[in-house]
Amino acid sequence: MKAMVLHKTAAVNTNPLKLEDVDRPEPAIGQVLLKIISAGVCRSNLHMIEGDWLHDGVPSRFPIIPGHEIIGEIAELGDGVDWLKKGQKVGIQPLWTTCGRCEYCLTGRENLCPRKEITGETLDGGYAEYLLGDAMHVYPVPQGVDPELSAPLFCPGVTAYRAVRKADLSPEKTVYVMGIGGVGHVVVQIAKLTGSKVVAVSTGKEHSELAYESGADEVFNPGVKYDRLGDHARKADSVIVFSPNQDAINAASKLVKAGGNIVLGVHGGMDRINFVDEIQIRGSVIGPRSDMYSVLDLAARGKIKIHSTKYKLSEANDVLNLLKAGKIKGRAVLIP
Ligand SMILES: [Zn+2]
Ligand SMILES: [Zn+2]
Repeated sequence: MKAMVLHKTAAVNTNPLKLEDVDRPEPAIGQVLLKIISAGVCRSNLHMIEGDWLHDGVPSRFPIIPGHEIIGEIAELGDGVDWLKKGQKVGIQPLWTTCGRCEYCLTGRENLCPRKEITGETLDGGYAEYLLGDAMHVYPVPQGVDPELSAPLFCPGVTAYRAVRKADLSPEKTVYVMGIGGVGHVVVQIAKLTGSKVVAVSTGKEHSELAYESGADEVFNPGVKYDRLGDHARKADSVIVFSPNQDAINAASKLVKAGGNIVLGVHGGMDRINFVDEIQIRGSVIGPRSDMYSVLDLAARGKIKIHSTKYKLSEANDVLNLLKAGKIKGRAVLIP
């Protein structure tokens, strides 16, 4: 099968992914083989490919095929998988599998499982024609959900959903969403479903358009340094941060009001927070299976839509360069 393979991390402008012929994997007991329809290109893929996360052991091996938000059709069933069918459309999220027996797996928080495997980081991912899945961690794609455009439900979708839940939103509240990219534009849509007022914080024109298209009540541009907050300071009941930028995180601590919360979906440090304000800071990372099913249910009911643009699998390096330059509106998906 054809795949875009990473042998060594490097800047994306050096085209580190190589289009190669590799062996098509065989499903073991409890696994399925997917013929990939579409795979999203995530900013995490960019970080991994450029070596930003090598010090955290990501990727855990070379060569590796990146990609962790995938929809495909089941091409083969491993032994013991009798609840799925050949030809069925299913998705795979970053959480490829989990141990099933730790305290997190036993309490529906398997995204925190210390023995989890991550698609495209600890084992091969979706920048390819075929992909193995753990049958316990693949999700049937509902009727009416476009399988080419909707692969990003499996990372931005679930990531956005969990972050909004952590923000404790309700109709009388105001939430600020920082970063209107692949995840942020879904955060805006799900936050709107809670009835809250949604203010999108974005420094780019295209991303501002996407914020309005996604239903934001207001968009404001604080400048590239995130230092022109004006009368927005201390107006947020909650700030959800998906902007990969320390300045954005610093601004979040100035936007949030006393008693409010900040939900962080990116790496970065917090400025000094005054304890008398009782600000809560919460991390949020992808989501467990229960969140994934909720996202698919919302998509099936037409409540969330991914803004996706299709590219060919062989164009993965070009797409990563566009993403790095902030020139992808919503999400790019690769079609084998
Ligand atoms: Zn992702
Ligand atoms: Zn576990």
